[in-house]
Amino acid sequence: MARITLDHIRHAYGPNPKTDKDYALKEVDHEWTDGGAYALLGPSGCGKTTLLNIISGLLQPSHGRILFGGQDVTMLSTQARNIAQVFQFPVIYDTMTVYDNLAFPLRNRGVSEADVDRRVREILEMIDLADWAKRKAQRLTADQKQKISLGRGLVRNDVNAILFDEPLTVIDPHMKWVLRSQLKRLHKQFGFTMVYVTHDQTEALTFAEKVVVMYEGEIVQIGTPTELFERPSHTFVGYFIGSPGMNVMPAEVAGNTVKIGSETISLGYAPKTNGAAKVELGIRPEFIRLGREGMPVSISKVEDIGRQKIVRARFADQPIAIVVPEDAEIPADARVSFDPDAISIYAGSWRVGRE
Ligand code: ATP
Repeated sequence: MARITLDHIRHAYGPNPKTDKDYALKEVDHEWTDGGAYALLGPSGCGKTTLLNIISGLLQPSHGRILFGGQDVTMLSTQARNIAQVFQFPVIYDTMTVYDNLAFPLRNRGVSEADVDRRVREILEMIDLADWAKRKAQRLTADQKQKISLGRGLVRNDVNAILFDEPLTVIDPHMKWVLRSQLKRLHKQFGFTMVYVTHDQTEALTFAEKVVVMYEGEIVQIGTPTELFERPSHTFVGYFIGSPGMNVMPAEVAGNTVKIGSETISLGYAPKTNGAAKVELGIRPEFIRLGREGMPVSISKVEDIGRQKIVRARFADQPIAIVVPEDAEIPADARVSFDPDAISIYAGSWRVGRE
């Protein structure tokens, strides 16, 4: 397995790119640690597949270099990069048996039959297809075929990395959960470098040690699920992670306080905005306190979502969402307060530190 370095990667699909808008990847500079389990998360069109294809060698970047373990592989083919890939849809040999499909990548590399057998049986158990080993792959359901694809990605233990591009899209929800936990276990056991592309935050947050969030061709934050939730570094991360997403309101900084409309909130520190007064204040719906004290708020709707309630309201003339436990009492004249530690201040969409 290898450390993967993305060194100033830019990519444009069209000829003669002029502005940033012409680039599907604007500037990606990042190192994926050897043995790390990463999720690459972002909305449709943000550049996830483009980046994955550049790592695997299916696509040459317009600018920049890819290094595996410090060695420049930018000009090397996918095969020479020694990477396993699992795509959204099954890529298998229909006329071969399930067993042979898994054995193929190993036999291709001259692995001894005894080792092939041991490894294939291990993976068959993991993907729950041991009883189907002798069946022809074409007789399997779409779900099972995708499991074979996954198995083929995992069967070799000499690859530099395993790349997954939304591999569980066609798998039914229960099996998704099972496969995800098995992948996590296998990763712990074998320690391969793993990059898992998804636009589904639940999938990313439950699976990865580190989540790489992409937005409009850029990496906007890399962090643990907790870091992304508690300290989104960009307003997009705040909005994209969490359900409902973070409340983001236009605000004005004055010393150690921030004003939203006619309300003034004390922060206890001066945000480092380089002199800019106009900022945005972000606070998660879960971190707003709703009770009898604090600033006025007018509640418009309460949605019961099981163990919690989402309260839709207007605060300082801004729409906000507040999440409370399902048994929380919501007074008719409810008021809200914001804990300064739960507040993020954004200037030009990026979270700012403290002076
Ligand atoms: P999705 O989740 O929908 O697969 P993504 O995050 O993987 O999206 P990409 O497929 O990498 O995004 O696309 C990034 C941008 O590049 C998009 O604007 C897309 O339209 C564009 N793009 C992707 N492939 C091509 C191509 N072959 N030719 C031209 N433009 C492309």
